[in-house]
Amino acid sequence: MASLLDLRKQYLGALDITDDDLRIVGAVREFVDGEIMPRRQDLEGGWHRDEELAGKTFHKIQQGLVDLGVQRATWPEKLGGLGVSGTVYNMIIEEIARGDVGLATHMSIINWAMSGAMRGRRMDLLQEFVPKICDDRPHGCCMAITEPTGGTNAEDPTQHGRTIHTLAEEDGDHWVINGHKIWPSGASKADIAYCVVCSTDPGTGDDGVALIYVPPDAPGMTFSKPYEKMGMCYTDVNTEIFFDHVRVPKKYRVAGPGKDAKILHDIVGMGRLGTCHMALGAAQACFEIVLKWTKTREIAGRPVRSRSLHASILGEMAQKIESARAYAQQVGKMVGSGKFGSSGEPVLLSKCSSAKAYACAATEWVTHHAMELMGSYGYAFDYHIEKYLRDVKILSLWLGGPHRAMLDTALGYYDFEWS
Ligand SMILES: Cc1cc2nc3c(=O)[nH]c(=O)nc-3n(C[C@H](O)[C@H](O)[C@H](O)COP(=O)(O)OP(=O)(O)OC[C@H]3O[C@@H](n4cnc5c(N)ncnc54)[C@H](O)[C@@H]3O)c2cc1C
Repeated sequence: MASLLDLRKQYLGALDITDDDLRIVGAVREFVDGEIMPRRQDLEGGWHRDEELAGKTFHKIQQGLVDLGVQRATWPEKLGGLGVSGTVYNMIIEEIARGDVGLATHMSIINWAMSGAMRGRRMDLLQEFVPKICDDRPHGCCMAITEPTGGTNAEDPTQHGRTIHTLAEEDGDHWVINGHKIWPSGASKADIAYCVVCSTDPGTGDDGVALIYVPPDAPGMTFSKPYEKMGMCYTDVNTEIFFDHVRVPKKYRVAGPGKDAKILHDIVGMGRLGTCHMALGAAQACFEIVLKWTKTREIAGRPVRSRSLHASILGEMAQKIESARAYAQQVGKMVGSGKFGSSGEPVLLSKCSSAKAYACAATEWVTHHAMELMGSYGYAFDYHIEKYLRDVKILSLWLGGPHRAMLDTALGYYDFEWS
């Protein structure tokens, strides 16, 4: 088990965490070191992207994480969960991302997609979905926001839902959904539910926004083949989703006119905050790899890390990781305190967006410089840096890119119409 002192040093910003919290995080770290680190390459099917190897490795590791309690970690005990706090859950996700960012994405989408029902205080929906999530088998969920006409637009609070083109029409006791989503993580794999961002009438703005849970076997919902992409190969599966007169009972709409729009922005804020910890896990992994490498690698008779130029870069890596982590943890505490509004309201959406852009920039810097410090070895498949570098790029792009994040940051300080 990782020493509590080592973990406390790493998560210094979260000073109020207990030894019990650290033990949970330590157990995940031990699993990551023992089970994920040696199989990181197999998770994407090795050098030749062997899909079968990737699938087998993924399922074995996912089951291990379920056995450890990761899948049910945050849910209330009365629903079968372990009731861990958001701070501790983010530390757990960071540890998993230290092993593999796509795996951390897959695990955290469940909470993210289900957070709508939680925020809408929909005990009936939680009672339907959460006991399954808390059983002893691996599961998946999906949060479908992005459309061919844009992801950033749909998430943009200043657009008031007017750019959402997936339509939900009332028909007796049902919603009938027609539309097209692209890129959602977990699409075609999710077995619990799809949280689909729709509009009942884009002309009505926020009142039209509807968050609707669609059961995975709903007739009329079909998928494209998975996208082929730069990183997170096989761990995070993304497809298009087509909705052709998909009928779902009315109870699956999360809240109602106006309320769903607010919950959507809360979900976006939470997603951005969670992304910080995925990024930081990867940054931490690269830092650990390069620290070790530069200890034994010599240039002109001396270990690389004892050269002042290289020591300065290593110091800057530590500074960037720790400041980004402390920032994300502080924003997480502000969200958890409930004293500053919710994660989708301007004050906290601003901070969640800013922390995401900051953590992703820090991580890109760290992965890039780790590769430079290792020279060609950093570029080689065997030393893993190339994989982290490929995996992390999307973190800054999803849920709106860095420029959008800066606009949302500014919106926390003053109102304006962007152009
Ligand atoms: C691996 C992966 C996983 C994903 N997972 C999900 C998921 O789970 N659910 C989901 O719904 N989507 C998901 N996506 C989609 C992703 O969130 C979107 O692609 C992303 O938000 C950007 O949207 P877009 O591609 O439509 O770009 P656009 O909206 O067209 O934006 C393009 C660029 O312009 C910038 N931009 C846009 N508007 C502004 C503005 N007003 N001011 C300044 N800059 C702006 C953006 O930041 C971006 O850099 C995923 C994508 C990938 C690759």
